[in-house]
Amino acid sequence: MLITNISHELRTPLNILLSNAQLLEIYLRDDEELDIGQLRRKIEMQIRNCNRLIRLVNNFIDISKIESNHFELEPVKCNIVEVVEAITASTVEYAGIRGIDLVFDTQQEEMFICCDLDSIERIVLNLLSNAIKFTPRGGAIYVNLSMGDGYVRISVKDTGIGIPGDKIGLIFERFRQVDNLMTRKHEGSGIGLTLVKLLTEMLGGRVHVYSEANKGSEFVVELPVHTNGKTNAISSCPVNKSNEEIIQRIKLEFSDIYF
Ligand code: ADP
Repeated sequence: MLITNISHELRTPLNILLSNAQLLEIYLRDDEELDIGQLRRKIEMQIRNCNRLIRLVNNFIDISKIESNHFELEPVKCNIVEVVEAITASTVEYAGIRGIDLVFDTQQEEMFICCDLDSIERIVLNLLSNAIKFTPRGGAIYVNLSMGDGYVRISVKDTGIGIPGDKIGLIFERFRQVDNLMTRKHEGSGIGLTLVKLLTEMLGGRVHVYSEANKGSEFVVELPVHTNGKTNAISSCPVNKSNEEIIQRIKLEFSDIYF
């Protein structure tokens, strides 16, 4: 199961990279004129598939770092509302291309917690990537923030295909997908949620899932509110990155979705 899934996940993008390169080689060999539109599409495909491989390898590395206690967190005090809202806002356009409404809402404008911003970004982008992938055109995704007793609650809820009750227990296991590898309609490695769970636990939190087949799913990440991190510096810039860097991160995390 594990070897089959990894092999498939490596082979699919590699095959695309190879066939694109072979096609370009034939064009050059036969001195044929290249259609600029076609060339652009091929290059986009190359980049997406390279991103897909990099994401897979990054996820492997991070999972093994977490499991061997070598994963370093850089906690900063931040307004989690601003952070999650910024991540959501930067993906609205991608959801829109798939005909999905992405709506952000919050109970309060400010909720300060001490947190590792990179991990938050990975967690939220992974959940959004799944929500987009498993929600058909015309659907909606709701990102909601609320305050519990000593924790903040980040909810990513979709009106997508949902998860059958007997499969919910499996989805956080590595390489597990609801759909069978041979018949599935969506690409993916099956380790996104494993990482989401491990990262959330590293941050002292928990993930819950509520889902019903054909109705939709809700993933809830609860993070502790304590603000006793290594530093008291307040991160004013939500994800501490330039626009270009954020777009690159989205392309990486969304690399198995076809837009
Ligand atoms: P993948 O790379 O396959 O998306 P994940 O670990 O992120 O891997 O998710 C594991 C499986 O859980 C997915 O293949 C899918 O079957 C199911 N799943 C995750 N999120 C959702 C969702 N929002 N709606 C329906 N199914 C989901």
